[in-house]
Amino acid sequence: MFAAALTWEKLVGIGSAVAVENAVRYTLFAGLGWLLGYVWFRQRWAKRKIVPAYPARTDVWREVRLSLTTVIFYGLVGAATVWAALQGWTQLYWKPAAHGWGWFAASIGLTILVHDTYFYWTHRLMHHPRLFRWFHRGHHLSTNPSPWAAYAFDPLEAIVQAGIFPVAVALYPIHPLAFATFMVWQLTFNIFGHAGYEFWPRWLMDSWLGKVMNTPTAHILHHQHLRGHYGLYFNWWDRLLGTNLDHYEACFREVTSPERHAPHPSH
Ligand SMILES: [Zn+2]
Ligand SMILES: [Zn+2]
Repeated sequence: MFAAALTWEKLVGIGSAVAVENAVRYTLFAGLGWLLGYVWFRQRWAKRKIVPAYPARTDVWREVRLSLTTVIFYGLVGAATVWAALQGWTQLYWKPAAHGWGWFAASIGLTILVHDTYFYWTHRLMHHPRLFRWFHRGHHLSTNPSPWAAYAFDPLEAIVQAGIFPVAVALYPIHPLAFATFMVWQLTFNIFGHAGYEFWPRWLMDSWLGKVMNTPTAHILHHQHLRGHYGLYFNWWDRLLGTNLDHYEACFREVTSPERHAPHPSH
């Protein structure tokens, strides 16, 4: 494909397709999370609800509204990145077997690692007092998030979050389908982290896996305290830099305790 073949109409088409694709995926995944945690299994899972109360309807609608605005910025960044790719400025490739299927699979894992690091540092930066209200305030309006908070970002944060696409294609060869697979992982993990329930088994915190993986408890604590637990998939940056909250492990053990009673929700 040549850059000359890319018209404005095509670029707008690509951006719209990226936005619609993200909106549909978000609605399906967050909707399923909502049905599971807040409708079908609300009673059965109540013992694992990290914050006893359930979010107010107005909070949930704000999360949906912000998330659906976010996908517009995903479309803009997506179209700009495809345009850059067609100029030959990136390592995006179009034939899945071009670098071998081994690399195709490895590039998905690598993107998860790169995104985890990208997320930790951009997230910490957005907590800087000078940047917070421009970038990250909208996300933190949810002190007790629901699955719909997964993409609830202000426009500037949405652009930062979408930035993993240009960063990945600038750093190493990746196929759009490998990136789309990563996006499914990313959204799924994000919804688990915002759903409000602790899904990991109790033994996690007594094993090495608890030192490596992040938990919904960690992210909900971040939403409650507005500091600490900046990581996304893994807990290693937070451990390395001492940004886990002191009561994190105790809180995880309390939420996963078999003796815990189902809280009495106020909503
Ligand atoms: Zn934050
Ligand atoms: Zn969050």
